[in-house]
Amino acid sequence: MSAQLIHGKPLADSILDRLRAEIEQEGLRPGLAVVLVGDDPASAVYVRNKKRACERAAIASFSHELPASTTQGELLALIARLNADPAVHGILVQSPLPALIDFEAVIEAIDPRKDVDGFHPYNLGRLAAKLPTLRACTPYGVMRMLEHAGIDPSGRDAVVVGASTIVGRPMALELLLARATVTVCHSRTRDLASKVAGADIVVAAVGKPGFVKGEWIKPGATVIDVGINRGADGKLCGDVEFDVASQRAAWITPVPGGVGPMTIAMLMQNTVQAARAARR
Ligand code: NDP
Repeated sequence: MSAQLIHGKPLADSILDRLRAEIEQEGLRPGLAVVLVGDDPASAVYVRNKKRACERAAIASFSHELPASTTQGELLALIARLNADPAVHGILVQSPLPALIDFEAVIEAIDPRKDVDGFHPYNLGRLAAKLPTLRACTPYGVMRMLEHAGIDPSGRDAVVVGASTIVGRPMALELLLARATVTVCHSRTRDLASKVAGADIVVAAVGKPGFVKGEWIKPGATVIDVGINRGADGKLCGDVEFDVASQRAAWITPVPGGVGPMTIAMLMQNTVQAARAARR
């Protein structure tokens, strides 16, 4: 492998430790409500990791574990209570939600000041308007990783593969804000290989193991793999064909231990930011 790895875990841990120190110094008592509906095993793991991060950063976590039979009305009633609770500065609703609940309706019901995932149209709009407030955690974490590795996107050609509301779109907006020239690819994109081959920075957020082929990567490029998939061997893997890509790239993120821990660290960062804003 010739690429250097951009590890997310140690960077995430250092952010959590710094948040803890800042919270203690400022006498802040940030609180995060973590809402889990149903019994999806992957979601349970994510929620557990988020609660652990709360402990490390000294953020209070309030757990709401609801059965899969929960109705949209019941969930919206809980959101209304959390919106009104002064001890709660951030509200996290773990996706996926059961099929009968409209995820967008739930996100829009969250007070944008408590939308620490950064998914509310208000916060996405603020990012689009070059006024980022609570920023979507995964793209925010990716930007922190680039900064940490000393990679300035300004003037670079960036390709984002994936255009979802929670990753691909806000990722493109973050890169644009950092003055990259951004191409966003999705399932209707033609000749994806040539788009990726032109990129100085590639961000893959598709949700398909090894989907971005290593031979597409421009030599010396930076490759950020957001994907978290279960491979045929049962192990976690990303969206990028890591073995080949890491021979060509200058920088690459591993899966696991790359973007995942940074997403959680940015959730904590946003919760502290929301708590500070509430105190003003
Ligand atoms: P979605 O399924 O919501 O979006 C996938 C995107 O990939 C869509 O925009 C889709 O296009 C695009 N896509 C699908 N097929 C193709 C194709 N053949 N060519 C080009 N683009 C394609 O997924 P998410 O954005 O929620 O998640 C993506 C991955 O990131 C998943 O593995 C998920 O687990 C992971 N993830 C990781 C996080 C982390 O912290 N590391 C956080 C969040 C997600 P279209 O819009 O046209 O449908």
